[in-house]
Amino acid sequence: MTTDSPMAAPPRAAARAHELHKVYGAGLSAVRALDGVSVDLEAGRFTAIMGPSGSGKSTLMHCLAALDVPTSGTIEVDGTSLAGLHDKALTTLRRERIGFVFQAFNLIPTLTARENILLPLNLAGKKPDQEWYDTVIDAVGLRDRLGHRPSEMSGGQQQRVACARALVSKPSIVFADEPTGNLDSTSGAEVLAFLRRSVDEFGQTVVMVTHDAVAASYCDRVLFLADGKVVDEIHSPDREQILEHMTALQARVAGPGEPTAETA
Ligand code: ADP
Repeated sequence: MTTDSPMAAPPRAAARAHELHKVYGAGLSAVRALDGVSVDLEAGRFTAIMGPSGSGKSTLMHCLAALDVPTSGTIEVDGTSLAGLHDKALTTLRRERIGFVFQAFNLIPTLTARENILLPLNLAGKKPDQEWYDTVIDAVGLRDRLGHRPSEMSGGQQQRVACARALVSKPSIVFADEPTGNLDSTSGAEVLAFLRRSVDEFGQTVVMVTHDAVAASYCDRVLFLADGKVVDEIHSPDREQILEHMTALQARVAGPGEPTAETA
């Protein structure tokens, strides 16, 4: 199917936000973390969310992942509106349709790699699809580490376990929060290559918050936030383009005459 065909279906959104506002606190101390964010996150793509510290990246990701509730606006995940879902339904949605990869890996120290990977499915009372499980294990290169506990693995291996855990339930969307923030560049590159491969070969959808221009250069699309708004986006970017956009954003946030933060 070509995208310029008149019959081509529009890309499906794995997650969609419309006019999201999030205000923390009230009165004089109120903080407007999101200020009217509307965005479609297309299925089968790798999207980065970037922006200066405090621009609303984590808040946006947490709202999209049903970990936080917006003050106003609507969110859909895989066609399901989050509005009105009560706690049990939200827990089920998070468990079955959303995968998470965190900066600090968040593995259970007493469980082996295999047990960590299968934990979300076990909690949901589900059996893994053996063929998919094998595909994921081989793709992350963990076949010979499955019996190891997190303390017996490097940071890069632990994060690959976390990636496998996120993917093994075939989620509609994977949210990765600074997944390479605790890794050296070689381990980070392995994790990013795996996330890229999960999109290209397995049709997964990945959304990643990152400060790192190299990490974002693995993505199909980079969204830039400033002051709670999406202010820019670029497609199939290289590192230099991303750094240019980040520098411009930092300058805009700092205002004229103030120093800009280092982004590289
Ligand atoms: P980023 O991830 O881009 O650094 P955040 O989404 O963490 O930005 O924060 C956006 C704004 O909202 C910041 O001003 C931050 O201080 C504020 N904020 C975030 N979480 C809370 C909270 N729980 N209570 C009060 N303010 C918050």
